[in-house]
Amino acid sequence: MNKKKVLITGASIAGNTVAFWLSRQNFDVTVVERAESFRTGGQNVDIRGAGRIVLQRMGLEKKAIELTTGELGTDWVDEKDNVIARFAVDDIGDGPTAELEIMRGDISEIIFEESRKYAKYRFGEHIIAVSQHADGSSVTFNNHQSEYYDIIVVAEGVGSSTRNLLFTNEYRMRYMDLTIAYFAIPGKESDGKFSRQYNTVGGRGATLKPGSDGKLRVYMGIHKVSESEQKWSVEKQKEFLKEKFAKDGWEFPRILTELDGIDDFYFDVMRQVKMDKWSKKNLVLAGDAAWCATPLSGIGTTLAIVGGYVLAGEIAKNDDPEKAFQAYEQIMRPFVDEGQGLPKIVPRLLWPHSRMGLLFLRFVMRIAGTKPVRKVFSKLYLRNSEKIELPLYKLEI
Ligand SMILES: Cc1cc2nc3c(=O)[nH]c(=O)nc-3n(C[C@H](O)[C@H](O)[C@H](O)COP(=O)(O)OP(=O)(O)OC[C@H]3O[C@@H](n4cnc5c(N)ncnc54)[C@H](O)[C@@H]3O)c2cc1C
Repeated sequence: MNKKKVLITGASIAGNTVAFWLSRQNFDVTVVERAESFRTGGQNVDIRGAGRIVLQRMGLEKKAIELTTGELGTDWVDEKDNVIARFAVDDIGDGPTAELEIMRGDISEIIFEESRKYAKYRFGEHIIAVSQHADGSSVTFNNHQSEYYDIIVVAEGVGSSTRNLLFTNEYRMRYMDLTIAYFAIPGKESDGKFSRQYNTVGGRGATLKPGSDGKLRVYMGIHKVSESEQKWSVEKQKEFLKEKFAKDGWEFPRILTELDGIDDFYFDVMRQVKMDKWSKKNLVLAGDAAWCATPLSGIGTTLAIVGGYVLAGEIAKNDDPEKAFQAYEQIMRPFVDEGQGLPKIVPRLLWPHSRMGLLFLRFVMRIAGTKPVRKVFSKLYLRNSEKIELPLYKLEI
C-alpha cells in the first residue's frame, strides 16, 4: 500500500515533534520551513509534566537534561538587587524556574536532529495557496510548484499565514497587554546562578537569567496595550526599549548599552490564539498556530511537544484524518484551555504601573516566598502541565 503523504509547515518544536513520530510510522513526511535554514534562536523555555513524559517516550529526555541551563531558582529583587523572595529548585522543585529549563534552540535542535533522519526537509518555502478536495489537498508553494498531499499539518507559530489564509474569520487574538523583548548580553561572575525578576513602575520590568554559556538572558517587558509592535523593524523596536527604560536604574543602563550590538533579538506582543476548531477537512493546526498560550503561561513548549505527540498518535491510529483530528482536539482542548486560562489581571499585577501597585506586588511576593507558602505558590506553575491524560500510542521509535 502507498504511504500516506503528509506535509508539515513550520520546522520548530510542534512541527518537528509531529515529523519525528509520523516519519517513523508508515507515512511519507515532508516538512517545509519559511526561513532559509533551521532556526536555532530563542532564550530559556520550560518543559514540564506531560511534556517531559513525551520527551521520555521519544528517547530524548536524557539529552535534554544534559543541556539544562543550570538555573538554581528565581529571586524577586528590588532596585538594589536585594532579594524579596526566593524560589529555589532544590527546595520547591518545579516552580518559577522549571526543573527542565533549556534553551529554545537546544530543545528544538534535539528534536530536529532526530526527525530529519526520516522526514524530508525543505527550507525557504511556504504555502501560498491550498485547494482542499475529498481525499487530500493540492498545495502551491512560494516557488509556484504545486504538490498533492493526503494530510497537511500547519505548525507555523502564532503569526501563521496558512492559518490566516484558510481560517480567515475563524480565529481571534486575546491580547495580554504585554510587549516583550528577549536577547542575551555578556554575563558577569556577579550575575550568579539564580534568575532575577525586577519590576518598577509604569508597567516596566525585566527578568535576567544566567546561561550555561556565560551569557545573561534578558527578558524586558512592558505592560501596555498593543500597537502591533511585533511588525516594526528591529531598529524601531530597540529604539522603543531605549526610550521606555532610559530613566530606570538597577541593571537597565548595562542592558541598554549592549542593545545595539545584539543580533539574537526576539520581540513580540503577547497574544493568545483562540479558535473553536483546529482543523478543516484534511488540514490541521498544531502548536502556537492553533492555541498560542504565550510565554506568560510557562507551558507553550510543553503544549507544542504534547500536542505534536497526540496529533501524530491519532493520525497513525485512525485511517480517516477527520476522525483523527476530532480525537486530537478532544484530548488537547482541556489541556490548552487550562494553559490559556491566565486572567488578564495577572500581567497587570505582575507589571505594576503605580508606586502603590509596586509596593503591593512586593508585599505579596514577600508572603509567597515564606516557607509555608512557597510550595503552594510553586504548584501554580506545575498545575497546568499535568492536566492531561496522556494516551499511550502504539508508535515505533
Ligand atoms: C526563532 C524563535 C525564537 C523563539 N524564542 C522564544 C523564547 O525565547 N521564549 C519563548 O518562550 N518562546 C520563544 N519562541 C516561541 C516558542 O518556540 C513557541 O512558543 C513554542 O515552542 C511553540 O512552538 P511552535 O512550534 O508551535 O511555534 P514556533 O516555535 O513559533 O515555530 C514556528 C515555525 O514556523 C515557521 N514558519 C512561520 N510561518 C511559516 C510559514 N508560512 N511556512 C512555513 N514555516 C513557517 C517559523 O519560522 C518557525 O520555525 C521562539 C520561536 C522562534 C521561532
